[in-house]
Amino acid sequence: MTRATAIPVLWLDLDGTVRKSVDELGRFVNGPEDVELFPGVIKLMKAWKRGGGRIVGVSNQGGIALGHVTPEQVQAAMLRTHELTGGLFDKIAWCSHHPAAQHPEMARCWCRKPAPGLLIEAGLALTERHRDEMYPPYMALMVGDRDEDQECARIANVDFQWAAEWRAEAS
Ligand SMILES: [Mg+2]
Ligand SMILES: [Zn+2]
Repeated sequence: MTRATAIPVLWLDLDGTVRKSVDELGRFVNGPEDVELFPGVIKLMKAWKRGGGRIVGVSNQGGIALGHVTPEQVQAAMLRTHELTGGLFDKIAWCSHHPAAQHPEMARCWCRKPAPGLLIEAGLALTERHRDEMYPPYMALMVGDRDEDQECARIANVDFQWAAEWRAEAS
């Protein structure tokens, strides 16, 4: 067996980072028709891919647990987001849970940021698909627009950059 190649992963929050939206409660992005990307995002994502990296979207979608949006709407909006980038995401992972949900099953999870579950699950899924790769934290960058993104990056031991600062690098 050959040694796995270390690959840099760009962990991207979606709402407020990649796509314009107000929050996870579906007040702007409800369905695929609402998805709009920030300018500069595609350029930055392409540059990351040119460097041999992979890109994973990690998104809190607690609106599902609260009944504000359906899982199908979120799924369709994710697909649309991926399409709008021209297919630059290697994976998009999201958390459907919310602490204010009625049922404990929907309220308690390990994937709602700042918990690191989305990164762990997506990382495992990627290595499953690309057996010769590994994704060490020291090569990764997480970009987000909220405190929970920054905290998630800290817990995962990954460098963090604020979304506005990251997008400014495109101009
Ligand atoms: Mg966000
Ligand atoms: Zn979750």
